[in-house]
Amino acid sequence: MIRKSITVEDALAVLNRAFEADPEAMDALRLAKVPCNKKLGNDPEIQVGLASRYFKNREPDRPYAIGFLGVVNGLFGIDEATGYGAIAMSYQLRCPSGCDVPDEANVGDPCGECGHRIEAGKFLGFKAIDHEDLRKRMEAEDALVGQREE
Ligand SMILES: [Zn+2]
Repeated sequence: MIRKSITVEDALAVLNRAFEADPEAMDALRLAKVPCNKKLGNDPEIQVGLASRYFKNREPDRPYAIGFLGVVNGLFGIDEATGYGAIAMSYQLRCPSGCDVPDEANVGDPCGECGHRIEAGKFLGFKAIDHEDLRKRMEAEDALVGQREE
């Protein structure tokens, strides 16, 4: 059956079915990036990264890099307030010092015990981004930056 329309939940079900069937293949696929040009890089909905993050030798006319999840996210649009799409990769979180990481922590948060930045560990599949929570965290981060600058 061909679906005439899909929801974020539909997409997550398919992505996570692929992950459950072959985590190794999906781990390799999520890491696969292709250099792309400015026109694609400036698409209002498709998510890309900077090529410098992924490639040592860059083509000057291809300053961005695109992966499959960036295209999938382009299908669902972007949250204007955060600039993020609908779907994120899910990781086991780890502290570089080996401390226990609470469930509510996020990549980049300071570890509550040692202060090191929480890192992404093992790839666990795909999840919906909670944009309300993300907005709150971005505002809290902005407030902290504001305090540091005063
Ligand atoms: Zn720690």
